[in-house]
Amino acid sequence: MDLRCEGCAGCCVDWRPLDPVAAGSDRTGPRPPLDDVYDLAPLSRDEVAGFVDDGLGDALIPRLFEPAERDDSVRIDGVDLAAVDDRPVFVVGLRKPPKPVAPVGTDESRWLDACVFLDPTTLQCRIHGDERYPRTCATYPGHNLELGAETECERVEAAGGGERLLDDEPPKDLPAPAFGPQALGATVFAYPDPDDLDGVVARLRDGAATADDRARFAGAAVGSRPGSLSVARDRMADARERAREADSWVGNAVREWTARAAADGDPVDGTAESLAELVRDVEDDAGAPGTSGWD
Ligand code: SF4
Ligand code: SF4
Repeated sequence: MDLRCEGCAGCCVDWRPLDPVAAGSDRTGPRPPLDDVYDLAPLSRDEVAGFVDDGLGDALIPRLFEPAERDDSVRIDGVDLAAVDDRPVFVVGLRKPPKPVAPVGTDESRWLDACVFLDPTTLQCRIHGDERYPRTCATYPGHNLELGAETECERVEAAGGGERLLDDEPPKDLPAPAFGPQALGATVFAYPDPDDLDGVVARLRDGAATADDRARFAGAAVGSRPGSLSVARDRMADARERAREADSWVGNAVREWTARAAADGDPVDGTAESLAELVRDVEDDAGAPGTSGWD
C-alpha cells in the first residue's frame, strides 16, 4: 500500500459539499448509522480509555445504528436501534466540527466538517504516529483493499483530487476489522442501561448531543469487556465522570469553530495568512500538538 496524502485529508474531512457524487457515505451498509457524520473512524475500547485518561474525553462521540433486517432491535425516542439483548449497539469515534479547510486537492478554504485532530493549515493529523493515533487511521485503507471495497483515496481521485492510491496491495499485518462478531466489547459496544437513553437518542440523531450524552457512551465503552456483554460498573462510572469533566483544547476548538462557521461548504473569508493565524489562535496556542508540514 502506498498513498499520497499531501493536500488530501479526504478520509478526515466531510468533503461531500465539494463533490456529492464522487464522495461516499457511511450510510450504505445494512445498518445505517443514526447520525450523518462522514467517515467516522471507530476506536477500540483501549483507545477510548486512552483519550479519557489524557483528559481528551471531549473529543469523543458515539454512533448508534438502525437495525438490519434480521437484527435484534430496541425502540427509544421513537427510533428503532440495532441491539444485542435489548442493549443498543454503538461505536465511539472522534468529533468532526466545521473547520476552514481546502482538502482533496482544492485551493480555496471552505467550511467543512473535519476531524478534531486535523490541522486545518497543514491538512496533517495532529496525533499521527503518537500513542493516541487510532489504529483505524493508521491502517486505512488496508481493510478496504483486502475486501476489494472502494477506498476514500479512489473517491478523491474520481473527484479530480489528484493521484492518491499509488499501490493497492493491502498490508500483510492488518489487525482484526473494527466490525464483526469478534468486535463486541472491543470496538463495538452494547449500552447496558437502555432505559436511561430517553431524549439522548433523539439528540444524537439530530447532532445535538450534550457533553453528558457523549460521556455516558465513552464510559460504557471503557467499562466493556472484549467478547462479552458485561460491563465493569466502576470503570464505566469513573470513565463517564472523567469524560464529562474533560475541558481540553479540543472541546474549546469545537465550540470556537462551530460559533465561527458559515454554512456547510461555504468559502471562508480571509487570506491564507489570516486563516493560518486563526488556526494558531484556536488550536495551536490553546494546546494542540503541532504537525511537521509536508516539506
Ligand atoms: S485522527 Fe488523524 S488521521 Fe484519524 S481522522 Fe482524525 S485527523 Fe484524520
Ligand atoms: S483519502 Fe487516502 S490519500 Fe487521502 S488522506 Fe486519506 S489515506 Fe491519504
